[in-house]
Amino acid sequence: MPGTLYIVATPIGNLEDISLRALRVLKEVALIAAEDTRHSRKLLNHYAIATPLVACHEHNEEARAAQLLVRLQDGADVALISDAGTPAISDPGYVLVRRCRAAGIRVEAIPGPSAVTAALSAAGLPCARFAFEGFLPAKKKAREDLLSALRDEPRTLVFYEAPHRLAQTLEAVARIYGNERPVAVARELTKKHEELFSGSAGDARRHFSGEVRGEIVLLIAPAEKAAAEPADVTAALRRLAAQEDLPPAELVRRVAKTTGVARNAVYQEYLRLKGEKA
Ligand code: SAM
Repeated sequence: MPGTLYIVATPIGNLEDISLRALRVLKEVALIAAEDTRHSRKLLNHYAIATPLVACHEHNEEARAAQLLVRLQDGADVALISDAGTPAISDPGYVLVRRCRAAGIRVEAIPGPSAVTAALSAAGLPCARFAFEGFLPAKKKAREDLLSALRDEPRTLVFYEAPHRLAQTLEAVARIYGNERPVAVARELTKKHEELFSGSAGDARRHFSGEVRGEIVLLIAPAEKAAAEPADVTAALRRLAAQEDLPPAELVRRVAKTTGVARNAVYQEYLRLKGEKA
């Protein structure tokens, strides 16, 4: 019987944030593949886990995946962990998972912390839908081009950002999205110096203008649907009335839908136009 590859989430700061199942699996597997074995040894020592470790990081993931696949095919269970949070989320893991699944190896997620979901859950921005963009590009032009391309995104935007670039990024966010766009900055989540800032892009730029330390998640509120101008409603009523012979209620309903303006307001405008004609 081939073994199972377990994708095990580990804490993003606070060592208590690990599930009982994660601890059991890390104890029971034959081998743990870790992004940085020295870093992970601290977590494993804390929980008295003595399972052998091998390194699996972005520079050796292809070669390591081939070796781990052989071990799994031979029947060994293997766990994959990263330095923090959920493997494969802006971390190594995708290559190994893809290879294992292609080879028919069972892959199981042991869910737990991830900075993206932790930040979203506490930021107070809409989170029924969100767009996670991973790390923002390091180069200024590429970063600003990406931010510009996402300006009208109707879902909350979530980015990982390096602390030394945060001030410059917030300056760009305020400029491109406007000073008033709500944002949140989650810094050092679950750690001693945890900070969860929320406010306008302009406020955030001022707040983080000095030296910033720690690990950062940046969230930007969705673009509001641009409110239709009164002139748009008038034009839409005139256009639709000229195109189709609709009863007033249907005319108003359709214009309210296409412009996003309240039905009552559209009806008032309809009455005004009718009065003009009479
Ligand atoms: N796989 C991880 C996860 O599930 O969150 C993410 C790994 S990625 C290489 C590391 C980035 O995640 C950091 O640069 C930071 O943007 C974010 N991050 C990780 N831990 C964090 C924390 N405690 N507070 C805020 N952001 C954190």
